[in-house]
Amino acid sequence: MNEIKSFFTSKINGNLSFSKDNHNEVLLNRIKLSKKYKYNNNNLRHMQQIHSSNIQVINHKSDILIKNCDGLITHEKNLALMVLVADCIPILIEDKVKGVISAVHAGRNSTFLNISKLSIQKMIKQFDCKPKDIFVRMGPSIQQCCYEISEELKNIVEKSFGKEFLNGRYLNLQELNKQQCIEVGVENIEISYICTKCSNEEYYSYRAGDKVKRFAGIIINK
Ligand SMILES: [Zn+2]
Repeated sequence: MNEIKSFFTSKINGNLSFSKDNHNEVLLNRIKLSKKYKYNNNNLRHMQQIHSSNIQVINHKSDILIKNCDGLITHEKNLALMVLVADCIPILIEDKVKGVISAVHAGRNSTFLNISKLSIQKMIKQFDCKPKDIFVRMGPSIQQCCYEISEELKNIVEKSFGKEFLNGRYLNLQELNKQQCIEVGVENIEISYICTKCSNEEYYSYRAGDKVKRFAGIIINK
């Protein structure tokens, strides 16, 4: 059986997203994190996330930054996959039997494009993963209490997915992703009910004002 490690960071681990003028600080935070969780920072891969449903299957030869995608999958060992978030859901998926892992950036748009479902389907199709062996973990993210959307978007959700994902104009993004996992036969799903906006002291939250800083979900098959 494969030994897969997955975890979510918080503000304690600092900002993990590169932007203008913060290269050294972020690099130091990433190196500290890799030492804490015992992986090589050179084996960490992250995405240029674009709120799409593009999912890339990668290996050790892949670039450090995987461009234009919101999901990564690998079946190689010692390759750490990272998703960066501040309100969007960091989703980490694993199949210990086949040794296949995935990191998904599930914001509103990617969720509407079925990114959780597509990522699992890709694991099944390319690596013969069985739904019963797949385990899905959703990390801290904005919960229904704080996730107000426009009237227009509310109507789209109601028509496309159903009323059950809404409370007035407040959207339950976690349930929408859970539904996608269930649709492809995955029932082993763990959801964090920590709301990043309510818990902004511990987690970065875009809606609470963190425009560039991000925490992470990281998964690795050791
Ligand atoms: Zn909240």
